[in-house]
Amino acid sequence: MGDGGWMEWWKTVGLKSGTQLLHYSSEDKVMEKLVSLCKRRGFIFRSSDIYGGLESTYDYGPLGVELKNNVKQLWWRDVVTSRSDVVGMDASILMNPKVWEASGHLSEFHDPMVDCKNCKARFRADHIDLDKNCPTCGVQDWTEARQFNLMLKTHYGPSEDSSSVIYLRPETAQGIFVNFANAQSTARMKLPFGVAQIGKAFRNEITTGNFLFRSREFEQMEMEFFVHPDETGNWLEYWSDSRLAWYKNLGIREDRLKLRPHGDDELAHYAAACFDVEYEFPFGWSELEGIAERGTFDLDQHAKHSGKKLTWFDSKNNEHITPAVVEASAGVDRTVLTILVDAYHEEEVKGENRVVLRLSPKVAPTTVAVFPLVNRDSMPEIAEKIVESLRGDFAAFFDAGGSIGRRYRRQDEAGTPYGVTVDSDTLEDQTVTVRERDTMAQERVAMDQLPAYFRDKIR
Ligand SMILES: [Zn+2]
Repeated sequence: MGDGGWMEWWKTVGLKSGTQLLHYSSEDKVMEKLVSLCKRRGFIFRSSDIYGGLESTYDYGPLGVELKNNVKQLWWRDVVTSRSDVVGMDASILMNPKVWEASGHLSEFHDPMVDCKNCKARFRADHIDLDKNCPTCGVQDWTEARQFNLMLKTHYGPSEDSSSVIYLRPETAQGIFVNFANAQSTARMKLPFGVAQIGKAFRNEITTGNFLFRSREFEQMEMEFFVHPDETGNWLEYWSDSRLAWYKNLGIREDRLKLRPHGDDELAHYAAACFDVEYEFPFGWSELEGIAERGTFDLDQHAKHSGKKLTWFDSKNNEHITPAVVEASAGVDRTVLTILVDAYHEEEVKGENRVVLRLSPKVAPTTVAVFPLVNRDSMPEIAEKIVESLRGDFAAFFDAGGSIGRRYRRQDEAGTPYGVTVDSDTLEDQTVTVRERDTMAQERVAMDQLPAYFRDKIR
């Protein structure tokens, strides 16, 4: 890391030591190393870093934003544009507060909180044993547990009285439910059909941590699938399987992914049944996405509170029905974290430690890095021309800084699947060396064949 700010930044990341897990040994320290790599390579910085940061809030850097955009684009392609039964939308973060009354978030969306009277540390009451001493200071002196609403409040407009209180949305789903009739009628959708959106959501979590895993500002990819109430079971199964397969298709290791049904005691207030897609992080199996059967709860509530009809006319049976909902709710930041954790790999190469991010070419911020072996004999100019020729189809990157070994290492850490080196042979026979990141295998390829070569490899 090599900078004085490291320890400060480190403390804000909120990593917790994991229990012994199948895929990690206690010496792995994968999370610590990953946080360091993310900063070093420009994936993720802490927010407002020059002012000491803001706890559990992060900024995506030049490589991080590309990775994150690739994740969102793949989701949008697979859930929305490649299907004829799902349409997209983009609702506002700020909504009429009546939405949260109807949805139950004002009355139900809270966690129990306790404080240690001795050291003032604050915990979720359901996450610690109140018969034991405070894990921070070792004294046992708890306040009463009290309910804490998780919505972030702000004031809308110039007056700061109670009439101007509004909330930053705690989920994107409600933006879809209140637009059910708008989306259905304008896109002329028939049951079953889905409405999807990607956007920021905010939750004033009592405790945050594990880097990107739990933060107060995050981004969701949510799809609400409206179905005939008799068909919810089939669609819950369909979307659970389909969403699990999506993560595998991103190149995430299958033995670290699973689908877990919720027990009755952990269902949210709106849900009748739920499956979580879980990943085995160094800190334990944790939720990536929830696929939930919400029944007619949301449309019923909004119909009741708004006085508007939120039904669909079934012309075959000549009746108005309130569709039931199967929801697939994924976290963008959690998916990014999963991809990074899963890709992180260390190995010894010729007595040296090599750190490599084995990112799938589908999500890697850079697909091909192009290097002149040395900065003379027109090698840099040829390399830049190659970058130009690849740019339309691939994320190509030119790097002439430092020894070739160092440039390879930097790209290994950035997760770049391919490196192209222009050397003295190139000047003779118009071929270049292509190096594959994971195997480090090298082969000579004719310069003018490079676009076809990579199209074939990455397909
Ligand atoms: Zn304490």
